[in-house]
Amino acid sequence: MVTITVIGTGYVGLVSGACLAEFGNHVTCVDTDAAKIEALTGGRIPIFEPGLEDVVQRNVRSRRLSFTTSLPGAMKGSDVVFIAVGTPPADDGSADLGFVEQAVREAGSLIEGYTVFVNKSTVPVGTAGKVRRWVREALDKRGLDIPFDVVSNPEFLREGNAVYDFTHPDRVVIGSGSAQAREIMKEVYRALYLNETPYIETSCETAEMIKYASNAFLSVKISFINEIANLCEKVGANVQDVAKAMGRDGRIGSKFLHAGPGYGGSCFPKDTRAIAATGRQYGLPLSIIETAIRANERQQALMVDKIEGGMGGPGALEGKTIAVLGLAYKQNTNDMRESPAIAICEGLAARRARLRVWDPQAMEEAAWRLKGISGGLCFAKDEYDTLEGSHALVLVTEWNQFRNLDLNRIRRTLLGPWFFDLRNIYKREEVEKAGLSYFGVGL
Ligand code: NAD
Repeated sequence: MVTITVIGTGYVGLVSGACLAEFGNHVTCVDTDAAKIEALTGGRIPIFEPGLEDVVQRNVRSRRLSFTTSLPGAMKGSDVVFIAVGTPPADDGSADLGFVEQAVREAGSLIEGYTVFVNKSTVPVGTAGKVRRWVREALDKRGLDIPFDVVSNPEFLREGNAVYDFTHPDRVVIGSGSAQAREIMKEVYRALYLNETPYIETSCETAEMIKYASNAFLSVKISFINEIANLCEKVGANVQDVAKAMGRDGRIGSKFLHAGPGYGGSCFPKDTRAIAATGRQYGLPLSIIETAIRANERQQALMVDKIEGGMGGPGALEGKTIAVLGLAYKQNTNDMRESPAIAICEGLAARRARLRVWDPQAMEEAAWRLKGISGGLCFAKDEYDTLEGSHALVLVTEWNQFRNLDLNRIRRTLLGPWFFDLRNIYKREEVEKAGLSYFGVGL
């Protein structure tokens, strides 16, 4: 059993903290957001993440997991400090390490004995060295020479599947130059280590690079199929069939070959921009990744063109009401960070469409993330309520409950025939049979 402090209790910190407690460790999660900690101590989970509530409640009950806003309290007796704060993009696209630096300096000023600092946040190559320097400076200020080590342990969980991913990872990556730290990390991850989860020990720099290279690769794969989809539309091919056949090739694999409105979320957009910034910094532009970023931005803009084109061309959106279903960047999360739905809603509003929007979990987020859209934005009560007074339906997020909509009811309620399925969930024939005009991506 290892005593752990997790700094940052967001999507990654909360899931990591709860699951590390489930592995038998003693975990205190800290956050500066008092409302978040108050919710958690009151038994409420501040994010939508399937299965998380059970793990949190179970481990709080067995006293292995607790929450606080007090870092000094949390740090008492801690062997390991996980840093799981945000690393948002700076203006030039590089990762802003401000939250990491603040958390590390604060924790460094509190350690009492040998401590392992673990970077769980996604941080650029070279950050472990900076963390070492920040802790050293904090100790120098105290006139102390307490031993410590730094580990890079990137996280690969997917929102919406986070608990499963953390407890059944494809791999655990541990970057460290210290044998002592590596032994402690084996204890931390003992449950997985014993389970023969692939456990990759490497240098800090390599671990940091693994995370960015993985996310950038997946982003490239998405942008790749989206560009192929756009070409499919022009030449009369079907991207679903293309992707299915490509995916059968074991060298390619079928995952992340779903054409759609472009990737979003808290990771792919910012991580691709951050690794591209690192490339430029070293005079080695990562041209494939740079292009994937541009292709993704274009894909989101193209969705607005698609809707306008489908409804009759330039000017067709003016005065029309569009029902938008799904605002989270993907299903099973309330996260709307860089969701394609935001760019699409803004693009439609800029062409003078009115919007009626709904999402099963992201309405609270939407209330402030879409507030830039002035006038003509209405928050609906459910999927069918979005249709009232709307001319067209745009399906942006692939929530399961959107996979079996009553197409006849949609046709009866909509003022126009237009059905834009930006996730290719429906079959053209069934939609057209209901009297709707169907538009997918790459079909
Ligand atoms: P988040 O914004 O949900 O959570 C970060 C939390 O840190 C916030 O609650 C914030 O209040 C808190 N915080 C900031 N400074 C603090 C401080 N000094 N002390 C205590 N708390 C502090 O972010 P997230 O989605 O959990 O992402 C965290 C990191 O993990 C990022 O680097 C991200 O790239 C990476 N990551 C995210 C995912 C994901 O799916 N969200 C997956 C893998 C990796």
